[in-house]
Amino acid sequence: MFEKVTIIGLGLIGSSLARAIRASGIATIIVAADNNKDVCAIVKKLGIADEVTSDIRRSVSGSDLVIVAVPVGACANVAEQIGPSLKAGAVITDVGSVKQGVIDALKPHLPSTVHLVPGHPIAGTEHSGPEAGFAELFHDRWCILTPLAETDIRAVEKVTKLWEACGSKIEFMDPQHHDLVLGITSHLPHLIAYTIVGTANQLEDDMKSEVIKFSASGFRDFTRIAASDPVMWRDVFLHNKTAVLEILQRFTEDLTALQKAIRRGDGKYLHDTFSSTRDIRRQIIDQGQADYRAPGGLRQEGTPPVEVPHKASGHSG
Ligand code: NAP
Repeated sequence: MFEKVTIIGLGLIGSSLARAIRASGIATIIVAADNNKDVCAIVKKLGIADEVTSDIRRSVSGSDLVIVAVPVGACANVAEQIGPSLKAGAVITDVGSVKQGVIDALKPHLPSTVHLVPGHPIAGTEHSGPEAGFAELFHDRWCILTPLAETDIRAVEKVTKLWEACGSKIEFMDPQHHDLVLGITSHLPHLIAYTIVGTANQLEDDMKSEVIKFSASGFRDFTRIAASDPVMWRDVFLHNKTAVLEILQRFTEDLTALQKAIRRGDGKYLHDTFSSTRDIRRQIIDQGQADYRAPGGLRQEGTPPVEVPHKASGHSG
């Protein structure tokens, strides 16, 4: 389907895509471009691309598909570099965890002769770098595409086929709606995990060592999420400010209500709240979205309780 595909940013997502694209056979040549020379050396060693370069500008020349897989905050810089070298008619897509911010960053630097189809695979782990990637990462996972009103439908079809070839299911959304939905399903949980683990980190040394020693699955699962890449998550919060602040406001109100119920000894309120949340967990399991993905495939974490396993699901980025 594609003669030449360039992937810019060969971390967890970019390197997983390189592997999945190669396995699917939908591209003749895969070019891997990363500004980090150490990453380029690892990618060469892994043999997951046909060409590897740290020259971002030249990496896109002649490519019919360019996938931008760098942290959200680096997208504008990448677009600025590649804009003048893009082939007329090329399709540009990305994998950023925020959509409106990435569109605003990419669009001004792209010539009118290319087609931008923004995307976000709802798949990931807390690991980063090219060695953390694996071809099956996107299997049975959603990929959300947020094409613009003016985007050429054939370009959207090509990006849809790309993700289907990698094993994903496709959903279309308005970029701002995407940012609100992911604000609650991914960004807020990461913020909470960073806060809880950060609070534990501030405790005196004695207490901290006990927290680590006796970390039951609750805290342990938060530490997994809070081990996610700091650059990626800094950029997510800086570029999804409006949605995250809105969701955080609602969360704070709900937390205050729980706090009040505990103070008043309102067991019914607590029980009703905890029962309704169990229901959401069941629906996630029913829809096959509950497993945690890690290098080497699916991994079971912790010992699940008999009825409703409460291990953390794979984080989505
Ligand atoms: P990652 O493992 O940290 O890899 C990013 C790669 O991009 C690194 O090799 C980085 O090099 C390189 N890079 C940074 N700035 C660059 C630039 N200006 N030009 C060229 N290369 C550059 O990150 P990731 O987890 O794959 O995430 C990549 C994107 O996917 C992000 O936008 C993220 O929001 C999105 N996403 C992530 C997940 C997830 O779970 N991780 C899930 C869905 C979507 P350095 O190491 O030198 O910075």
